[in-house]
Amino acid sequence: MSAEQHPVLEVENLAVEYRRGRRRTRAVENVSFDIADGETLGLVGESGSGKSTIGKAILGLAPVTEGIIRYRGTDVSSLTRAQRRALTRDVQVIFQDPHSSLDPTKPIGYSIAEPVQIHEPAPKAVVRERVYEMLCRVGLSEDAAQRFPAQFSGGQKQRIAIARALILAPKLVVCDEPVSALDLSIQAEVINLMAELQRETGASYLFISHDLSIVHYLSDRIVVLKGGHVVERGSAEEIYRDPQQDYTRLLLDAAPVPDPVVQARRTAAREKAGLSARTDAIASSIR
Ligand code: ADP
Repeated sequence: MSAEQHPVLEVENLAVEYRRGRRRTRAVENVSFDIADGETLGLVGESGSGKSTIGKAILGLAPVTEGIIRYRGTDVSSLTRAQRRALTRDVQVIFQDPHSSLDPTKPIGYSIAEPVQIHEPAPKAVVRERVYEMLCRVGLSEDAAQRFPAQFSGGQKQRIAIARALILAPKLVVCDEPVSALDLSIQAEVINLMAELQRETGASYLFISHDLSIVHYLSDRIVVLKGGHVVERGSAEEIYRDPQQDYTRLLLDAAPVPDPVVQARRTAAREKAGLSARTDAIASSIR
């Protein structure tokens, strides 16, 4: 089988254990899933359930204690130097906090151009054109390139981080709570933008969020995590319409309902279960 015939990503029996001195935390245990070309896999669970750890393990930022992560059929722990370089081009990330990918001391055009300079160096004018094109695709104007991160709103900064993540046309984007820090009205805009760019580029997304109502909009399939374990999985429609676990139902109940009595009951149930209450007006704005 050629590399292109394999899924973009396969995670098989992944376990991640953090060690700090003699203290060990088993953050993820026996997690398996794959992601096909152009597919969005949603990873949902309460805070501390291991979602970010899985994203980090895929990016090589958390230790793979057991199991295998394969990119296009090749175990990422046994890549040659050239393959590792290709992987850092093909797999990009969008974090919750865009500050982490934008240098506050540099105009944002610099940060968007950086992956191109590293992986596909070209004459200055060519790189500049690619940056302008990308700015336009995320809904910003060319003159934004000269401005600094502090001059943009949170939503604009996340658009800039998306431009930087997508400029090399990656095959897979790990999106770790990409809209959780944004105002509700802006969340919908950014989700719609991500969906639009995915349709244009064919990239696959691993979409990580604690919020099932958001995950469901973008995802084809969903994996539900609790305490580092997979507790439920299925198509986005199945998980959203007919969750089998009470835990998943509680994650779903984060979405608002128009009836204040029902909403209060759901909020109380969530609080009793230790899940943070959150009102959410985003659903109606997502296309
Ligand atoms: P989530 O993204 O679902 O909120 P995380 O993957 O961040 O969950 O965390 C899963 C578990 O691993 C938690 O118990 C957390 O405290 C622990 N953890 C996360 N990062 C580290 C780390 N660097 N060192 C030790 N423990 C960690």
